[in-house]
Amino acid sequence: MPGAELECERVREALLDNSVEGAPMSELPPWAARHLGSCAECERFGRGVRPSYDDLDRGPLYTASLRRRTLAAMAAADEGRVGWLVPWLAPAAAVSIAASFVGPVWLTARWIGPLVSSGWMAWGIALGVCSSLGFAAAGAVLVALADLRAEQAGLDAAGRPAERRPS
Ligand SMILES: [Zn+2]
Repeated sequence: MPGAELECERVREALLDNSVEGAPMSELPPWAARHLGSCAECERFGRGVRPSYDDLDRGPLYTASLRRRTLAAMAAADEGRVGWLVPWLAPAAAVSIAASFVGPVWLTARWIGPLVSSGWMAWGIALGVCSSLGFAAAGAVLVALADLRAEQAGLDAAGRPAERRPS
């Protein structure tokens, strides 16, 4: 039934929007909430998206659109079961912080130093520039991981094509 599939698509969109906005589940549109009560797959999708959203929301790591893309990729990769990504969040953030602060801040501060009046200002600018780049890098790493995972999900452990069951 093509209509049902379209409905699922709309409900998952609503779930993603709801998660990205950080709104409680109770604020889902009534038609979406009704659908969740009758569609086990979308209900599972919703349960998968919520906890991963909460994990992603711990820091200013993500812009809303990036968060949305990551959530969508995660949810598509492993319908509902997205816990695999959570252990990667801390290492990805740590790598991005190391990559963005240790060397680059020092280099940038040295580079800006002669151009501005005070050393503190140079460090401030360097910190700002490098932290923005670092957050972007961490987001990109997670999106790439999620995409990779989605590709791998094309085949399951037994080598069967893991096609999404038409609802
Ligand atoms: Zn559905």
